Amino acid sequence: MAGVQVDRSICRQHGQCAIAAPTIFTLTMGELTYRAEIDSADLVDAESAADACPEQAITVEA
Ligand code: SF4
Repeated sequence: MAGVQVDRSICRQHGQCAIAAPTIFTLTMGELTYRAEIDSADLVDAESAADACPEQAITVEA
């Protein structure tokens, strides 16, 4: 099991993460939700989302 964490104090809700990894991140009505626990198979998608985040708010732990 791997982990994803978003620093909500710097997240600006623009949703690039949800475009890069829609199975992990969802932006609905301006509210970001995400799966904090992911399978190792989702790591590549999670890393893509972290790279896409303009605020560098996403931390991925393998
Ligand atoms: S891309 Fe980053 S700042 Fe934007 S909604 Fe996702 S986690 Fe938040």
